[in-house]
Amino acid sequence: MEKKNIKWSELGFSYIKTDKRYISHWKNGSWDDGQLVEDNKISISEGSTCLHYGQECFEGLKAYTTKDGGIQLFRPDMNAKRMQQTCEKIMMPKVPVEKFIDACMQVVKANESWVPPYGSGATFYLRPYVIGVGDNIGVRPAEEYIFGVFGMPVGPYFKGGMNPVNFITTDADRAAPHGTGKIKVGGNYAASLQSHYEAVKRGFADCIYLDPLTHTKIDEVGAANFFGVTKDNKFVTPDSTSILPSITKFSLLHVAKHYLNMETEETDVLVDNLDIFAEVGACGTAAVITPIGGIEHNGKMHVFYSETEVGPVTKKLYNTLYGIQMGDIEAPEGWIYKVI
Ligand SMILES: *Cc1c(COP(=O)(O)O)cnc(C)c1O
Repeated sequence: MEKKNIKWSELGFSYIKTDKRYISHWKNGSWDDGQLVEDNKISISEGSTCLHYGQECFEGLKAYTTKDGGIQLFRPDMNAKRMQQTCEKIMMPKVPVEKFIDACMQVVKANESWVPPYGSGATFYLRPYVIGVGDNIGVRPAEEYIFGVFGMPVGPYFKGGMNPVNFITTDADRAAPHGTGKIKVGGNYAASLQSHYEAVKRGFADCIYLDPLTHTKIDEVGAANFFGVTKDNKFVTPDSTSILPSITKFSLLHVAKHYLNMETEETDVLVDNLDIFAEVGACGTAAVITPIGGIEHNGKMHVFYSETEVGPVTKKLYNTLYGIQMGDIEAPEGWIYKVI
């Protein structure tokens, strides 16, 4: 397989049009078989509910090339199930887990020449989505839907990659206490664009959202969950009804406990009690693990391990998780799906 002539190590997180994408339509109560197409444009009715009433959702997962040249997916069943939960909440038809995984595999296989080689530092990002389409104007669930999956090679999501970046807390909320924060819908992202822009304008990588009810606890970081390692070596991550249940976070909880023999806890993380942490970071499929050097809150900067160096536990968590994803470290049963 001849790979594309790309400087893999220089890739950022940007759109690249690859060869093929998957599209399936839902009409009259069922999904069609779906197919790979070349056209990266979709034509939909101006009355589509995804355009007016936010009836749309997405997922994000990656394909990794292993040392022996194989390609594998990391826990795609978890993404499939999470998308089902999202669809249920915003009244869209669920995509069966097998259909979701099959679509991802088809897209990876059809774009094999775009999948970054082992050791390149880049990975192949897959973006599944479901949108409500069809002729409509009233506020109600659509009668027709599209499920699509496309993908592209990507580098680090935050410019720093595995170097610490700084974040700032925001007064704005991306989601309500019992609203849509725990499902992966575009509306949460529309609600986050302005505060993200303000944070970046001030020189931060992104902003940190506090719990929308009391604004005293850390919820999450834009598109990634938050974790901390306490000074007595416990892995802690926020417990909240308004954060997205990150598969990377659940995987790190497992890695911390079973690979690094750490104590783990999902609990409230008070923004005024950051002193308990030696190291903190953000985690997600796109961000992988991004070490946080400092957090500014109420005009004061709280610095962790070192503003410029990655802490030792963060490094171990990263190496173990990335090692599992790349096939260098044995994965817990059921985490890896071989594509090629
Ligand atoms: C997708 C997402 C994450 C990360 O979830 P992963 O399953 O680890 O990729 C975190 N926060 C938000 C708001 C997200 O949309």
